[in-house]
Amino acid sequence: MRIGFGYDIHQLQEGDKFYLGGIFIPHDKQPVAHSDGDVLIHAICDALLGAANLADIGTHFPDNDPQFKNANSTYILRETLSLLSHERWKVNNLDTTIILERPKLKNYIPRIRTNLATIMNIPEKDISIKATTNEKTGAIGREEAIAAYAATLIYT
Ligand code: MG
Repeated sequence: MRIGFGYDIHQLQEGDKFYLGGIFIPHDKQPVAHSDGDVLIHAICDALLGAANLADIGTHFPDNDPQFKNANSTYILRETLSLLSHERWKVNNLDTTIILERPKLKNYIPRIRTNLATIMNIPEKDISIKATTNEKTGAIGREEAIAAYAATLIYT
């Protein structure tokens, strides 16, 4: 078995296309991104790729490639999982932290877990989604950015 770690951050701008963990969340800001800017899924993909030592999300899904413009991050996660399964890796568990000031994610986390469990084909009990604010400090505290961290254990 092997451990992996991932991180992602995106700037926020005015808008209403706010996706996190593959689900739509009503908000008055959206990520600035080539894809849909789903920091949680991007951090998860980097953790998975890191655990398998398969480089990183930017290597497999370059942000200057028109193919991935406005890409649905769910697609990127599915492709990442298929890269791992080609080498017979399975996911044991996933632990994540999202950092943002608003909106409160408490009511959305159950849906994010269900969605990720479906995509990743692992039980919800093996997926942890945590959220915290940046205590109003820095770019995240000013609501100019959103970030996520992910750790995972994979096994064959
Ligand atoms: Mg990203």
